[in-house]
Amino acid sequence: MTFRKFAEFFRKLAETTLRNKITIILADLFKEAKLTEIGKICYLLQGRVAPLYEAVEFGLADKMIIRAIAEGLNVKREEVTTHFKKTGDLGITIEKLKEIINKRKVNKKKLSVVEVYEVLHKIATASGSGSQEVKIKLLSDLIKDLDSLSCRYVVRIPIGKLRLGFSDMTMLDALSWMLDESKRYRPEIEKAYNVRPDLGFIAETVKVKGIAGLTDIKPKVGSPILMARAERMTSGEDIIEKIGKCAVEPKYDGLRLQGHLQTTKISLFSRNLENVTQMYPDIVEGMKQQLKANEAIIEGEAVAYNPNTGEYLPFQETVQRKRKYDIEAYAREIPLKLFAFELLYKDGKNYIGKPYIERRRQLEKTVERGETILVSQEEVVDDVRRLEEIFQDAISRGLEGVMAKKLNGIYRAGSRDFTWIKYKRSYAGSLSDTIDAVVMGYDFGQGKRTGFGIGDFLIGIYDEKDERFLTVAKIGTGLTDSEWKTIKVRSDELKVKVKPKNYEVDKIMDCDIWIEPRIVTEIRADEITRSPVHTAGRIMGPSKSGKAFEVKEAGLALRFPRLERFRDDKKPADATTLTELRKMYGQQGKK
Ligand code: ATP
Repeated sequence: MTFRKFAEFFRKLAETTLRNKITIILADLFKEAKLTEIGKICYLLQGRVAPLYEAVEFGLADKMIIRAIAEGLNVKREEVTTHFKKTGDLGITIEKLKEIINKRKVNKKKLSVVEVYEVLHKIATASGSGSQEVKIKLLSDLIKDLDSLSCRYVVRIPIGKLRLGFSDMTMLDALSWMLDESKRYRPEIEKAYNVRPDLGFIAETVKVKGIAGLTDIKPKVGSPILMARAERMTSGEDIIEKIGKCAVEPKYDGLRLQGHLQTTKISLFSRNLENVTQMYPDIVEGMKQQLKANEAIIEGEAVAYNPNTGEYLPFQETVQRKRKYDIEAYAREIPLKLFAFELLYKDGKNYIGKPYIERRRQLEKTVERGETILVSQEEVVDDVRRLEEIFQDAISRGLEGVMAKKLNGIYRAGSRDFTWIKYKRSYAGSLSDTIDAVVMGYDFGQGKRTGFGIGDFLIGIYDEKDERFLTVAKIGTGLTDSEWKTIKVRSDELKVKVKPKNYEVDKIMDCDIWIEPRIVTEIRADEITRSPVHTAGRIMGPSKSGKAFEVKEAGLALRFPRLERFRDDKKPADATTLTELRKMYGQQGKK
């Protein structure tokens, strides 16, 4: 397939917001792609040249791209900058400039999608001194050889601005559609993807072997598995009624890590699949010392521990390390412990589909006694009173609450269900749990905060069915000066000229500045209320006269929302979903 043809697919995808239409366009693209192309096409659609969890980044700022465009088109940099200032979009800028030039000169080369992918890969992997120059040269050569439409997309990839507005899930639907013109294979494809979240690999497997190729996907050491998540409940009674006899563990307040041991090599992944091995040398060392296996995949919660006071420190202290320059020193000052609670794979055996008790037994056998990796505390209970006692005990030790695990439950990679239930402390008069929301935009400040240039910001949750972000609150108070500054600086890096196409926002909630959905925040609120101006769960319909569109059912909104912290370990699609918000609203009613 030529890159030009691929660019035409990009254009079609950008022209619609309808998920079904996007699915069909993608399926056509996948059908047309050859086996050698489909994997690379999947990465390019994600704006990448490797799976999401591989740290292959382009490392080219707008300024560098502008240089590459100027060199590729043989025009002055100022000309590119002036145009860019007008459009705010380097893709459009290069396309327009190239159109003018192309009137004079016809492109002869027809680069294939694989050839372009390979150059982009070289750009992303060039490193060391002089690599910026190499990157610019490679990109400017591509620009010379490609037509205007192709150029629009080829520059949007390295700057991370494809903005196609669909997620990996739509691509999974499209793979099913490619096979059968229906979404009926999506559950099987998704199940495989949850164990091997590498779209290129999944697409190639489906293309070669059909759906049968995915029936027995095993974990691969070094490639992260999507983490299982928990449902929430608000009493021991509900938990026992739901799952009966269960294993109860403390809910540690730290950072979830998945550790992969490959003979002597350790890789650590965060819950958004980022490779964070470099940040936790003490845990790497602990795993090397304490895991009795050749190969293993375990999971646990890393918690900061102060050796002087013997205290466990809250989450904020644990994540601070990310920002510390001298990680080794920090590791000595505040060492981490990993409370291991899962074993998913060991020496050729896949434990994902095995019941909890078997995984737990294997975990206990695999972790040797030591200082760093500790198997989480656990007690099997079948009576409500005992469960409540354990819960109260956890609270009094300063923990968040407990996790209850179904004894015969399998590990539900990438899913949230009742095989794990979190039961958290609730604050009088407030919601028992926080919600994770994405920052969608902000308004300029008035009064005290004029100096910061931000007065409030709009937050939204994720509608997993339609892959859209729906609003739940505008927050204008309760942040510290430094939090306001952080929100402003981070938002400005993500500014876009027009409201992203996967945002659903009522006119009244429009923002002065829209930003891409990237910043995930944890929000505490007093309660969830109904509001006609927020779009989460809002139902619209024609008015009686049929002439207007009006609110039939008000949306869900947060009362007195407050920022608890930033959740950089979560992806936007990991924000609280509409289904969860509705459930939380229901549970609140029950209380
Ligand atoms: P999630 O989307 O997983 O619910 P969250 O961080 O918003 O993410 P929490 O309410 O904090 O949700 O509860 C789930 C998290 O609790 C897990 O992702 C894990 O990091 C943490 N955790 C702490 N202790 C345990 C435990 N014993 N077993 C499982 N998870 C635990």
